[in-house]
Amino acid sequence: MMKAEIIAVGTEMLLGEITDTNTPYLARQLAQLGIDMYYQNTVGDNPARITGLLAQASQRSDLIVLMGGLGPTADDVTKQTLTSFLKRPLVTDAAAEQKLHEQARRLQHALTANNYVQAQLPADSIPLANRTGLAVGSWTAVDGRVYVTLPGPPQELRPMVSEQLIPLLAKQTHHVLASRMLRFFGLTESVIATRLAEVIDAQTNPTIAIYYQFPDIAVRITARAQDTESAERILQPVVRQVQTLLGDAYYGEGEHNSLAQVVGNELIHGQHTITAAESLTAGEFQATLGSVPGISAVFPGGFVTYAAAQKTAMIGVPADTIQAHGVVSAETAQAMAEGAKRQVGTEYALGFTGVAGPDNLEEKPAGTVFIGLAGPAKTVVREFHLIGSRNEVRARAVAWGFKMLQN
Ligand code: ATP
Ligand code: MG
Repeated sequence: MMKAEIIAVGTEMLLGEITDTNTPYLARQLAQLGIDMYYQNTVGDNPARITGLLAQASQRSDLIVLMGGLGPTADDVTKQTLTSFLKRPLVTDAAAEQKLHEQARRLQHALTANNYVQAQLPADSIPLANRTGLAVGSWTAVDGRVYVTLPGPPQELRPMVSEQLIPLLAKQTHHVLASRMLRFFGLTESVIATRLAEVIDAQTNPTIAIYYQFPDIAVRITARAQDTESAERILQPVVRQVQTLLGDAYYGEGEHNSLAQVVGNELIHGQHTITAAESLTAGEFQATLGSVPGISAVFPGGFVTYAAAQKTAMIGVPADTIQAHGVVSAETAQAMAEGAKRQVGTEYALGFTGVAGPDNLEEKPAGTVFIGLAGPAKTVVREFHLIGSRNEVRARAVAWGFKMLQN
């Protein structure tokens, strides 16, 4: 049986300025794997005292987890202290360094020498990537013991624990993991986080992690148990609970799935033909549709009608309609969908018109979008007020087009 010990590093905790929430979080996670926890310590940012604890821990524990003090400032000494205790050099993790450079480029600031410390870890260690921050964590096996470093900020530590440390430990303790990636479109990040708050807070097994993958939001649920069957049994009810809580924003499962794939396959299997006339999206809906294998069976072709004159010339949108209601209007979206449907003779057609931005159009603010969906019986039009840059508005409009087609 594995014996674990946690060392929380940070003078703020000794002074009572912050409460240590990382230790109980990690303790619950390790308990789920059947790992025994015998010691938990808090120590200040002090190399001599951290070394003292490491010396004791290495006599009595198999798994020693150091949390906090991985940052770039002078008071962050954890990994430097660990490497000198283990008599190993610090080396640079290429992926973490790459991330530092990307961040510097994005924020347009130069990296200073101390920034690079965040990409370092003890030599011969497994890097634990930091999805929500910059400091890389580490897993170092020495003489049958494992030393782990984790970042202090809980929003960095928790994903690193659930996505990287637990799978590594599960392997050692012969647990199996079962995991599902559920995909959602149409709710904002904050709405999803709010609706899931209670389940996420209660999570130990399974764990729930939210990923923002524009324009989707994905939720990964991971259960662990002694065998696959038990892991599935733990997983199922939470999967159903999350699907229920997020309602009709749910569209499918899978790492690389997309709303376009799901809807495209529904069209193909139902033999429903489709076309589109696109203004602000300029063919992006049709290009996305084209990414679905086999779609040519139900997608004969369509239109990019940017200028008002081309909406009339190519798909017969009455000039009067545009005159009376404007290019960006429900009426024009409806006439575009119906015109495209008539021209190509499909069962369904979409019409996209709107203001991609950054400037207003016809006094309508950027992000105003109308999408018409002409079907066998009737045409429905929806009005959207989308946020983001020009291309984000266009991508969201495309996704909403697929969403309107779904079911
Ligand atoms: P950074 O790169 O942000 O400096 P770090 O890995 O060096 O991260 P610390 O400097 O030790 O971590 O802590 C940074 C912040 O993370 C603290 O100010 C505190 O808000 C939070 N934090 C650290 N340890 C804990 C803990 N055990 N429980 C809760 N919050 C913590
Ligand atoms: Mg720090």
